[in-house]
Amino acid sequence: MLPFKLVYSDAYFLPIGTHVFPAEKYKRIHDRLIATGVAEPADFLEPQPATDQDILLVHKPEYVQKLRTGTLSAREEMEMEIPYSRELVDAFWLAAGGSILAARQCLTDGVCISIGGGFHHAFPDHGEGFCMIHDVAVAIRRLQRDDKIRTAMTVDCDVHQGNGTAAIFAGTRTASALLPSASASTLPHPAGTTRPGKMRGTHAGDVFTISLHQHNNYPLFKPPSSIDVDLPDGIGDDDYLAWLDNALSSGLRQFEPDLLCYVAGADPYVEDQLGGLSLTIAGLKKRDELVFRVARARAIPVMVTYAGGYAQNVEDTVTIHTNTVIAAKEVFT
Ligand SMILES: [Zn+2]
Repeated sequence: MLPFKLVYSDAYFLPIGTHVFPAEKYKRIHDRLIATGVAEPADFLEPQPATDQDILLVHKPEYVQKLRTGTLSAREEMEMEIPYSRELVDAFWLAAGGSILAARQCLTDGVCISIGGGFHHAFPDHGEGFCMIHDVAVAIRRLQRDDKIRTAMTVDCDVHQGNGTAAIFAGTRTASALLPSASASTLPHPAGTTRPGKMRGTHAGDVFTISLHQHNNYPLFKPPSSIDVDLPDGIGDDDYLAWLDNALSSGLRQFEPDLLCYVAGADPYVEDQLGGLSLTIAGLKKRDELVFRVARARAIPVMVTYAGGYAQNVEDTVTIHTNTVIAAKEVFT
């Protein structure tokens, strides 16, 4: 029995046909966790779909109406990069419900992982990059509305920048200031690269957003997060972990969150088809451990979602996501 809960439903599956996004990964992760004895059936909680009222805490009524009535324009559907269907709408509402449940549950257990979600490219008025609804933002706003939390921090380690997250929470800022440049200059330049990574950021508001991502990758336009770490192509485990450690320290010096939302994308992996970084499976597990250790040391509850993962071999993606549960088990036991 795990010392925390996992949130999962077979209905997390995204009905998108043959697609680079391996929609079957959620079930495969679930089955791997059971088959390897990492988890047992009693460790899982079954989520309920978010309500339209929950979704409207983040998304514009016109957009929600279009999704509910199947009236997206061809251009809007193309931008989302997944084929619209009523069933797909249901899957995204369920992902948001799963993130709400995970966020609520981690407040009592210290950590909770939803074997899904992390749709960080969804904006209030449109979807893009395989993301229709921003489940993590919905969870944060719902817990704030319920007075369960006041503040939250997102730590987005997907290889793609969390543009939706940055845009959604930018509106809450009241002031901005540059980070001390010393925080970036103290880091070594990544080995074998001519262009050092770069950390930039501004913040004031109730949700602090951190994104570590490959600079030369989607999205082309990256709205500013509280801290953005723009990583050069091909960065490996050690440099990545140094940047992550630095960004977490810097963020937690500036901000005290009641909840940490970790977006644990599997796509910084060296064999990812949509990523250009060079992390190993072992390095990605260390990444998870680092986030969990920092959160545990400061007694900040962590909710985890899975976001992207497009390894040539889908089994690698499943291994990386399964390791996130193992890392949590090791840190939180
Ligand atoms: Zn991604």
